Amino acid sequence: MNQKIEDAINEQVRAEFYSAFLYLSMSAYCESLSYKGLANWLKIQYQEELTHALKFYQFLLDRGAKVELRALDQPPSDFKSPLHAFEEAYAHEQKVTGMINNLFDLAQKEKDYASQELLHWFIKEQVEEEANTSEIADNLRKVGDDGNGLLLIDDKLATRVFVDETASAAAESGAQK
Ligand code: MG
Repeated sequence: MNQKIEDAINEQVRAEFYSAFLYLSMSAYCESLSYKGLANWLKIQYQEELTHALKFYQFLLDRGAKVELRALDQPPSDFKSPLHAFEEAYAHEQKVTGMINNLFDLAQKEKDYASQELLHWFIKEQVEEEANTSEIADNLRKVGDDGNGLLLIDDKLATRVFVDETASAAAESGAQK
């Protein structure tokens, strides 16, 4: 694998693990305020980010490239409100989208077709990630300080269950892992 792409994907592995850390930190914050549904949603998002990191990790190994697990920054642990946490989540996803887009540009420039194929999955996934976090932030903004409204949102987010989308994508393409 091209050195520049190997380095950029290792950096992306780090970004996805950082995303996991960030969501887990947000989950702890929401659970400390007894917003169990928001905490549930964020904790599942943490699990989802781990699968993203591992999807890139496995890709590096499958291509015979070197995996380099890089140090993570400490995520914030204080937020002004659940709304503030979800605004930060949305901003973070926009940043991740930018990184994925840059990776795709690089893969095109270097004519790395396998990386482009992998990145198509992530480009689609980022549309969902931005839509989800911005929708929750919008809803939290609408209810403001209304306790009943907050509890309704909290109840709704309590129903999210973890689905490993990277596993279902592998099953669809007939892959063994
Ligand atoms: Mg991700």
